[in-house]
Amino acid sequence: MNESPRWILHVDMDAFYASVEVLDNPALRGKPVIVAGLSARGVVCSASYEARKFRIRAAMPTQQARVLCKHGVFLRPRMERYRQVSRQVFAILREFSDCVEPVSVDEGYCDITNRVSQTESPEELAQCLKQRIREEIGLTASVGIAPNKFLAKIASDLQKPDGLVIIRPEEIEIFLPDLPVGRIPGIGPVTQHKLQQQGIKKVGELRRLSREELEHLFGKAGGRLYEFARGIDNRPVVAHRPAKSFSREETFETDTGDLERIRRVLRVQSESLAQCLAVKRLRAQCVTLKIKYADFRQVTRQRRLDDGFDDAETIFQTAALLLKRTEAGRRLVRLVGTGVSELLGETPAGQMELFE
Ligand SMILES: [Mg+2]
Repeated sequence: MNESPRWILHVDMDAFYASVEVLDNPALRGKPVIVAGLSARGVVCSASYEARKFRIRAAMPTQQARVLCKHGVFLRPRMERYRQVSRQVFAILREFSDCVEPVSVDEGYCDITNRVSQTESPEELAQCLKQRIREEIGLTASVGIAPNKFLAKIASDLQKPDGLVIIRPEEIEIFLPDLPVGRIPGIGPVTQHKLQQQGIKKVGELRRLSREELEHLFGKAGGRLYEFARGIDNRPVVAHRPAKSFSREETFETDTGDLERIRRVLRVQSESLAQCLAVKRLRAQCVTLKIKYADFRQVTRQRRLDDGFDDAETIFQTAALLLKRTEAGRRLVRLVGTGVSELLGETPAGQMELFE
């Protein structure tokens, strides 16, 4: 085992939605700003650090937050704007490395192993990144750097807001055993409770359980927990640019004028697209129908639904409506395709409990 260590950087924007609101409206600076769903069943998406003093937390019901913080400024989320700022952040990040993996709108990993050299230390790179985000966008980010992803994520969380923490390979054993297990990304209250029942509060104590015992308790995730407890995480940073659209198309074996037959294909395509959105935790705002006639002439029809959708029924109904705006049925059709685009995403995957 003589591999040279990796340097993984995790960047996490501080109170992102709330900070963007303050950026766009400086009069809000210093106030408890709470971005939240404002309906009866709405929940808090993001809270400024001033609001956190009132014990406001993400995912808390908005009604509860209103009780805790009577003078809070409650704002509806503006996802479009947050995505715009997010693109700026990731554009800066991509100047540091080709290997950037977004985790959500405000969080991502970056493998900077190849950038670290005798002249450029990880600290300097992180300082430079933070400074550029501050100067070019006007927001603060917390950065963690470590030899792997899970330690980098822990590190970025240790000194929030505006933090910078580096965990070097030789420091892992000093720092990790005393860390409360709840600090491990993906461990939520339920897992924490289960572990507490085993008398385990610290990462070091987690090492008492064998891989088999952990897998028995937590299924497949138990194996990962076993490795995390020892500071091991070999997951690579997977560079990808988020998909902009998904589509399905099908060429009929024989050209068809049968609208029912076309609608059946649309139905299948809608189901498949909805499944794809669910897996990727995305919503779409736009449906596109593509029709190629027997003479190979192709038309597309598009409809935008502002609220966003991720269900097969909406996709199908919209596509079926668009079908009426083509000559299908009057002319023979060779191919039919359905697509979804303008993806809203980013259900905050980072906040999910991996182990539950
Ligand atoms: Mg964040």
